[in-house]
Order: sequence, then C-alpha cells, then structure tokens
Amino acid sequence: MLSYIKTLKKHYKTEHPYKDPFKVLISCLISQRTRDSVTYPAAERLFKRYSSPESMSKANVKTIASLIKPAGFYRQKAKRIKKIAAYVSKYGVPDSVDELLKLPGIGRKCANIVLAYGFGKPAIAVDTHVNRISKRLGLVPWNSTPNQTEQALKKMIPKRYWNDVNTLFVKHGQEICKPINPKCDYCPLRSVCSYANQKHKS
Ligand code: SF4
Repeated sequence: MLSYIKTLKKHYKTEHPYKDPFKVLISCLISQRTRDSVTYPAAERLFKRYSSPESMSKANVKTIASLIKPAGFYRQKAKRIKKIAAYVSKYGVPDSVDELLKLPGIGRKCANIVLAYGFGKPAIAVDTHVNRISKRLGLVPWNSTPNQTEQALKKMIPKRYWNDVNTLFVKHGQEICKPINPKCDYCPLRSVCSYANQKHKS
C-alpha cells in the first residue's frame, strides 16, 4: 500500500488549499455535496468578507448564504457556519475527532480533514473518492463503509503517510479513477489494481 502512495506522489503535486484550522473546517463544511470548483471560490468570498471567527459569528445568516451560494444546501450550511464560528470564537477549533464531531454538520471525514490539514496531526479522511479507489484497488471489500475503510487503511499505511491519502486519492479520483468510466489505461496503479485486472479478464 505504501508503494501506491509513493507512486501517486510522483504523479500529483497536492496540497490542501488552507492551513488555518478554522478555514479548513469551514471550507470542508462548504465542500459537502459540492464540487471543489464551487467550494473554494465560495470559501474565499466568505473569508474575504469575514476574516475571523468572531466577525463570522456576528454575520447575518442570509449574507453568509449569499456568499457561499451556489454550494449545495447553502442555506443550511450558512446556519451551521454561523454556529461553528460562534463556538470557535469562544473556544477555538477543537483538535480531536470526538470534539469536532459535536459541531453542527461536521462528520468524521471533515473532522479528519481538520486534524490532518489544519493541525498537521496524522489522520485519514475517507470521502467518496478514497472509499471508491480503495475498493477498486482491492484494499477493502466492496461493502466497506468509510469508517471501516479508514480503520483498514490506518493498519496498512505508516502514520507519516496518512495525511497524503486524502489529497492524493481525491486528485486521482477527479482526474483518472473517476466514479464512472475510470481511465485505467492512463493509471499508474493499473498493474496492481483488482478492478482493472478483473475488467481485463472479462
Ligand atoms: S486501474 Fe482503473 S480502477 Fe484501478 S485505480 Fe487506476 S483508474 Fe482506478
């Protein structure tokens, strides 16, 4: 598995767009059911208008919604953003999965994203790309849940590479290992991939 990570590292230069834990947290919330090409411009509009958790916590929900639109569920996300900003302005961004999960709209994927890219702690955030590619490669069973995939990958990969998994697999999933019609002919992992081998045999 480590060799897969090293192979992908040669192909993709990836980095999370934010390092500040609050920005990582809010951008992850905006990204839910939303493409990156919509998420990051929306996040930038929001951060430009409200540069601190304090100012965001005092913002009008409708204004937040108008800034992050057309992100999916932007009205619901705007309410959550205001609540999270209020929490963070008092207590700071939590740096544990359990505490992050208590914030409105924050699930395990975003909690791990915040740990990995906001705090630099080892974490594996399993989103649809990471789960799909792990299944296709044959690393986990087809019915593996994101949580099960996270636990399985943690056993296979040395801790110092955990933070590479999400950014590399997301990039690979967007460019080559797409949900429909993966471009296996162009994939650097083709020779070790269960899905590609099965397809070749059939
Ligand atoms: S060979 Fe195909 S299915 Fe396997 S990881 Fe590459 S693109 Fe995805």
